[in-house]
Amino acid sequence: MARYRGSLCRLCRSEGLKLFLKGDRCYSDKCAFERRGYAPGEHGQSRRKRTDYGIQLREKQKVKRMYGLLEKQFRGYFTKADRQKGVTGTNLLIFLERRLDNMVYRFGLSASRHEARQLIRHNHFLVNGKKVNIPSYLVKVGDTIKVKEKSRTVGRISEAVETVARRGVPQWLELDKDSYTGIVKRLPTREELTMPMQEQLVVELYSK
Ligand code: SF4
Repeated sequence: MARYRGSLCRLCRSEGLKLFLKGDRCYSDKCAFERRGYAPGEHGQSRRKRTDYGIQLREKQKVKRMYGLLEKQFRGYFTKADRQKGVTGTNLLIFLERRLDNMVYRFGLSASRHEARQLIRHNHFLVNGKKVNIPSYLVKVGDTIKVKEKSRTVGRISEAVETVARRGVPQWLELDKDSYTGIVKRLPTREELTMPMQEQLVVELYSK
């Protein structure tokens, strides 16, 4: 599976906000966005007037990068979301939230979605007791996500769990820190997804 291999901090600077892609570093004074909160490149500090299309495109890029997806995968979720009943933008966000890499991150079992993806590929998690090493696996209500017993000493996992209180676990999830197990109590409502996202702009872009 192809993936973005460039600088993650550059993505935050391009989007003009912190996307929290690098775990602990994002909360420290080493954060590149805190140091240079303007777009990278020669014209990064100049003000540009954006067209409607440009605004929609930037919003789509922002949401896509927040969840660490490439265009084809992201577009695929939009297509599925559009076929479902309900509000397409909200459906799209719920699909993104249901990804296993996002869930691992939301439970606080990894410091970032990027790290969650690596840990999942290295077979550190069980879903409903079965090994799952596919980051895009879609989790359902009632599913349990558990760190394998012998993986609990992996530094990146144990450190993330140690600091879970700082980030907090969303209300729709429940984490038992002692058994390294999370349960999906329900799916989030749109209001509970508090990152700055205007998904309607993504829908408008793809509906052209
Ligand atoms: Fe973004 Fe984190 Fe890098 Fe800061 S440290 S620019 S929040 S990825």
